[in-house]
Amino acid sequence: MGLRTPLIAGNWKMYKTCPEAVNAAERLTGLIPEGLNVEVMIAPAYTALFPVADVLRGSIITLGAQNLYWEAEGAYTGEVSAAMLKSAGCSHVIIGHSERRQYFAETDEAVNRKIRAAVDASLVPVLCIGETEAQRDAGETFAVLDKQVQMGLEGFSLTDLEQLVVAYEPVWAIGTGKTATSAQAQEAHQYVRGVIEKGFGEALAAGLRILYGGSVKPANIRELMDQPDVDGALVGGASLDPDTFIQIVTYQNKIV
Ligand code: PEP
Repeated sequence: MGLRTPLIAGNWKMYKTCPEAVNAAERLTGLIPEGLNVEVMIAPAYTALFPVADVLRGSIITLGAQNLYWEAEGAYTGEVSAAMLKSAGCSHVIIGHSERRQYFAETDEAVNRKIRAAVDASLVPVLCIGETEAQRDAGETFAVLDKQVQMGLEGFSLTDLEQLVVAYEPVWAIGTGKTATSAQAQEAHQYVRGVIEKGFGEALAAGLRILYGGSVKPANIRELMDQPDVDGALVGGASLDPDTFIQIVTYQNKIV
């Protein structure tokens, strides 16, 4: 495996009941080929985490949650802690997804506290960043990415961030069918790696996996993965069907 083993992650969002999630996880585990040189993670809804963990035991697929709350425990009705995710079988947690920022008013400060909770619980944080269409049109893409990375990671040490994964997900490309061109993705990923290098040094930046997210499909994964700074994908819609998702996971076998 190279310096940055590719990671293909599926975000199931608010889809699939428990039986549906278990069924999809069972089908997916059966489709993973031997000797796959790619890490695979799926992030079902909270309710399906524990039963899906059971299905994934013994497979190479890891389990992630889509969110957490930063407090360890307490009177926070409806929230779920990092320790609860660990005990349900999670190794990863998606933090700061644009849908959380957009619909649940999640700020960079909240994202920072959530990453702290994930790191303290030894969960791999998958920090999502990305600009809106209006911000891109206004030429603010780099400034937005810079702020989201700086504020999201403020106060962390190098050791804290050893496991960090970043997902660049331009908001205008999520669930819209519009994918960033591979050149747009590469430009943003390279910029983000530079921000990490400035803040945390060359070694962390060189080993950091930066995933692309936004309408990734079997038809575009190969071209995206061919970019030097694209180290994987965070896949929403196309991760829901195991037959489609496996085509993305096995992109290296595709003849183009
Ligand atoms: C996502 O949910 O992170 C995402 C990128 O969604 P989609 O692949 O459906 O655009």
